[in-house]
This record gives sequence, structure tokens and C-alpha cells, in this order.
Amino acid sequence: MKNAILSLACVAALFLLATSCNKENVEAGFAEYTLSQEEIAEISGQFCSTNHLHDYNDHAILEENGAAEDRGTGIKGKFWPAGKVLKVRFQNGSATLQTKVLNYAKTWSNHANVTFVKVTSGTSDIRVRFGNLGHNSFVGTDNLLIPQDVQTMNLQFTDNTSESEIRRVSLHEFGHALGLMHEHQNPFAAIPWDKPKVYAYYAATQGWSQQQVDNNVLNTLGWGPAQHSPFDAQSIMAYSIPASLTTNGFSIPWNTELSAMDKEFIGKAYSSTRIQVRHAANINGNITVYLNGVATTLSKNETLQLPAAASGNVLNIWECPNSCMWSAFNVSLGFSYRIISSPNNPNDLTLALEI
Ligand SMILES: [Zn+2]
Ligand SMILES: [Zn+2]
Repeated sequence: MKNAILSLACVAALFLLATSCNKENVEAGFAEYTLSQEEIAEISGQFCSTNHLHDYNDHAILEENGAAEDRGTGIKGKFWPAGKVLKVRFQNGSATLQTKVLNYAKTWSNHANVTFVKVTSGTSDIRVRFGNLGHNSFVGTDNLLIPQDVQTMNLQFTDNTSESEIRRVSLHEFGHALGLMHEHQNPFAAIPWDKPKVYAYYAATQGWSQQQVDNNVLNTLGWGPAQHSPFDAQSIMAYSIPASLTTNGFSIPWNTELSAMDKEFIGKAYSSTRIQVRHAANINGNITVYLNGVATTLSKNETLQLPAAASGNVLNIWECPNSCMWSAFNVSLGFSYRIISSPNNPNDLTLALEI
């Protein structure tokens, strides 16, 4: 009964919110679509039943404090060094809640060469605060930029929060703390968004402007900064997407566990086995390479240590001698490589051992 009342209250509240937001949008001149009552009921039903404490206001604190915006700068170079022991300090919360959150964080350590330890004094890498500031976290090594007396992660939990919500959000936010970005913004994600509905949905449920929706939902991270796997709709780092927001009924539920690809990718990201590759080609633009399923884009003259397997590594380079294609090179550990152009066609890329 309590749940039913809560849902009804949310539907009513959101309907009012949606109405007022849409009016504002009309004045601002970009409301191309107005949600029907059925759509609002469908969306807010989902919103209220499981997701009233979710992650839409991710990074709100980051922006309020005027600190560097992590979104769009990507994850390349934001992973901690392999083998890192991350000290986690809780600023408040019951011992029970702290233990639950820490244990979910440690789920990542089962798949990556990184460890979380709880500290109660001294310096820390990650500082968790329970409160009413939504769910958000700084990304990877950006945590080092935050003063020691300021939290780096907000979790909107109480002792009454459901176990599945604590699991879902803790896994997601500690994924950010390990350097992961939102999966629906993976450069490979080709989500068939119904854009007018997307703008209307986030205006109604989050009060977001069109610009905020572009930044948080629609725009991908771009090839330059991102380091990523193929798109993974099962990722704990994806937003839930209602089918009504896509043109072909594609949807993503609220994922509450690490996906197979989450585990594989974080394992690679924290692998201490690396191959060094340098962009030395005779072109000024970026070059995207693909090593064992992880895409990385190198800028001109950039040198990067790419996570590799112990043997059998295949490095693919996107090259355009005639028609563009991925060329495959077998590369071995213990060598450095550079990507070079052929003399008469800078787009014809090959791999050479670094001298
Ligand atoms: Zn997030
Ligand atoms: Zn985030």
C-alpha cells in the first residue's frame, strides 16, 4: 500500500513538473515534442518504483564546485596504476552501511589488479559521504585533485535503502572511481534515440536543459579521449533507457550487476602487462588502434602503454590506403612500436618496431 501511494504521488508530481517544464521549453523555443499522459505514466512509474535515488544527477557536485568537468575528457590516462591500493574513507554512515558499500566496491577487485582498503584516519584516495546530494563520483585519478577534507563520492543511501539499490549504485559509482565513464556514451554506442522525446523526458524528470541532455545522454565521448570496448548494454555503467525513448523500441533495464564485459574491460584496464605504441605517422589527425578488443585513440606523437595479454596480441590500425579498413598486426611484449605512414600515402599506416 505504501508503495502504491508513493507511485501515485510520483506520477502526479511528475505530471505537474512535466507540464511546467514543457511550458518553459515552448518559451525557450525547443519543445518539439510533448509527452502524452500515457508516456509520463509509463516513465514515472519506472522512475518511482525502483529509481528514485538513481544517478541522473551524476557529477552535479563536480560542476557546482567549479572543478574540472570530467565528462568528455574521457578515461584514457585516468586509470590508477596497476596494483594500486585505494584507501577509502567514509565521512559518515552506519558501520553496516559502510561495510555493504565497501564490499560491493571490492567486487571490482575480483576482476582487476586494484585493491580497496578502508581507512579511518590519515590520507585517503576516495572519500564517501552519505547524504542528499544524489549519487556521483569523480573519475579515476581525478580523485587526487580533491582536498582531503572534501568527499569525492556522494551516495544517497540510508540504512533503509534496498540491498539491490546499494549494490547497483555502489558498483556504478566505484566504476567511476576506477576511471570508467558512462556506457551509453561509448563512441560505439549507436542508440537510436528519439531525440524530441529524450529532451522532454529529462526536462520532465530531471529539469535538464537541452544542452544538459546533450552532454549527459545523447553525445558520445568521442574517439579522441575515450578508451573503450564495443558497446555493452549490460554494463553497470549504462543508464537505464526506457523503450519509449528510442525509435525502434531498444531499451536498457537498470543493470544491477557487473556485466561480463565490465569484468573483462576492468581486468584489461588494470593489467600490468603493457605494449607501448606511438603515433609517429605523417598525419596530424588522431589514429585509432584496437588491441585485443579495446579501442584507443592516439593523438599525433602520443605514446601510450596499452593493456595487453601475455601472448597472442593482435593490434588493429584503421588505415585508408584505398578504401578504409582495419589492418591486423601481431605484436609481442617487450617491444615498443610506432605507427608510421607510407611515403606516398600518409593514410596508409603500418607498424614498425620503435628504435
Ligand atoms: Zn554515473
Ligand atoms: Zn559519471
